[in-house]
Amino acid sequence: MKIREEVLNVLKSIIHPEYGEDIVTNGMVGALEVDDIGVTFALLIKRPKDPFAQSIKKICEQKIEFAFPQYKDKIEISIEAPVRPPSAKSAAKAAPKIISTDNGDIKNIIAISSGKGGVGKSTVTANLAVQLAKMGYSVGLIDADIYGPSQPKMFGLEGEAPQVIGEEGAEQFIPLERYGVKLISIGFFIKVTDALVWRGPIATNALRQILHQTAWGKLDYLLIDLPPGTGDIHLTLLAEMKLTGAVIVSTPQQVALADVIRGIEMFKSPKIDVPILGIVENMAWFTPAELPNNKYYIFGKGGAVELAKEQGVELLAQIPLVQSLCEGGDSGTPDSLQTPVSGLAYMELALNIEKLSNK
Ligand code: ADP
Repeated sequence: MKIREEVLNVLKSIIHPEYGEDIVTNGMVGALEVDDIGVTFALLIKRPKDPFAQSIKKICEQKIEFAFPQYKDKIEISIEAPVRPPSAKSAAKAAPKIISTDNGDIKNIIAISSGKGGVGKSTVTANLAVQLAKMGYSVGLIDADIYGPSQPKMFGLEGEAPQVIGEEGAEQFIPLERYGVKLISIGFFIKVTDALVWRGPIATNALRQILHQTAWGKLDYLLIDLPPGTGDIHLTLLAEMKLTGAVIVSTPQQVALADVIRGIEMFKSPKIDVPILGIVENMAWFTPAELPNNKYYIFGKGGAVELAKEQGVELLAQIPLVQSLCEGGDSGTPDSLQTPVSGLAYMELALNIEKLSNK
């Protein structure tokens, strides 16, 4: 294969997160030249101020360099300005707004966080959302977990894409709706197989776009499923939002570990300064279906109560380990709508959140 075609193939592996199509097929690669001197091409952006342009350029450079080390420092990519400049009106409309409860459209914005991945943060977020909706509240959910956006799967909305409305430069995403919850997920924009590639600046930009450009309408609760841990992405995200509070999810094994404490400290730090509504202990015990009154504390007991006391925060709920979830994985319906024992636990969580909320 000629090297030019090989370079094109590399570029074909780069998907524009908004269009969901690779940049070659999408007509974004122009005037490609590959020779002994290096690789040059124009990245043709389709609309003014494409927020992904710089990040895509960087990914192009990295991928070409990785595949063809001989072109290190010999890659020249120009971003071609759009032919039609944005009108002053649309530019003003697209200006980023900090997401907040200030204008009264959204009454409560609550981030769900965890020290590590895999503790059930997304499961807790999905179930809290559907329980609040069941109580009659209007609920939105932002799945911002770039390391593994799992909400589309939990809501049975995998492979769907939100509708985009509005004029060029001031587009708005319409969240998808299921079980009374409006959902927007980074997973609708980023193919899971690309997760590694999109972790950097592209993911941050995609998240910012979701935060600023989703048409929620009026909401009682907007829940945000944050990426696990504490990192730069958290600081970026948290700087753009004015939260009502944060909920920390932990399992009994993780409870005493440094990363849970670090998570709590991140919210308490003067720079972030977000009230912690409390801790949710997930997989707190196991109850076999045939012995519904027995509780087996297979991962230890009492840790979350202790942590909540130490940190001066509430223990909002203890969620049992649910056998059906372990066996069957995700059915596309949050389990609190199907399993009575977890339904009860999540109802308690939703009631506790209601108590701590703005009315
Ligand atoms: P995180 O968002 O923290 O990475 P997830 O919510 O994706 O974690 O959960 C990780 C895995 O654990 C999933 O397969 C989920 O089905 C399972 N899981 C979460 N909570 C429970 C529970 N209470 N009982 C049984 N399995 C659970």
